[in-house]
Amino acid sequence: MDTGLFVAWLDEAARLVRRDRERLTELDAAIGDADHGVNLDRGFTEVAKALADRPPSSPAQVLTEAGTALIRRVGGASGPLYGSMFRQMGRTLESPVTLFHFEAAFEAGVVALERLGKAAVGDKTMVDALVPASRALALAVRDGIGALEAFERAAAAAAEGARDTIPLQARKGRASYLGERSMGHEDPGAASTALIMEALATAARAEG
Ligand code: ADP
Ligand code: MG
Repeated sequence: MDTGLFVAWLDEAARLVRRDRERLTELDAAIGDADHGVNLDRGFTEVAKALADRPPSSPAQVLTEAGTALIRRVGGASGPLYGSMFRQMGRTLESPVTLFHFEAAFEAGVVALERLGKAAVGDKTMVDALVPASRALALAVRDGIGALEAFERAAAAAAEGARDTIPLQARKGRASYLGERSMGHEDPGAASTALIMEALATAARAEG
């Protein structure tokens, strides 16, 4: 896995977030403050711009640059959370970047996000999509599966995790203020995580 794959991942994430900006914002309108799509679109647009203006020389640098741009530009809770995750991934990623090293870095990134947000699986946050994605990657490593199929499994697990937030009552973030009224809606952050993981699979597929 080279620098180009990581740049393609974040470019594709920016494209999918832009495409689904209204949907993410509508999800946030139901249980938050209607800015998640706008927040992330602003952040990922900045990520894509930063990577184009200052081409990074390693996968780790791509992740660190992306995390810094997200922290700087997103504004909402999701900026520092995703930003810290990408920065921790960048700090942890060892080269050469194999699926084994990627999985370890991804897991470290998710743990950093969980620590910062003090959220666990079942709290109806992005963690509900990130942890299943991380688990799917770990199982793929264990089973000796190739990177593309591993990313496809991680994307499917994230999408399922996002759908599974619908019946939950939020225990973290703005949605938690609604109590039981947060039930019956998909968490916007979990939905955006599903897009970010889909972007990874798409980028890997394009590399062939
Ligand atoms: P804000 O809530 O500040 O408006 P966003 O709308 O951009 O920020 O992001 C909201 C999403 O952030 C939620 O849907 C949820 O997935 C995630 N989130 C909020 N608080 C936490 C937390 N403490 N831990 C993990 N994720 C969180
Ligand atoms: Mg919001």
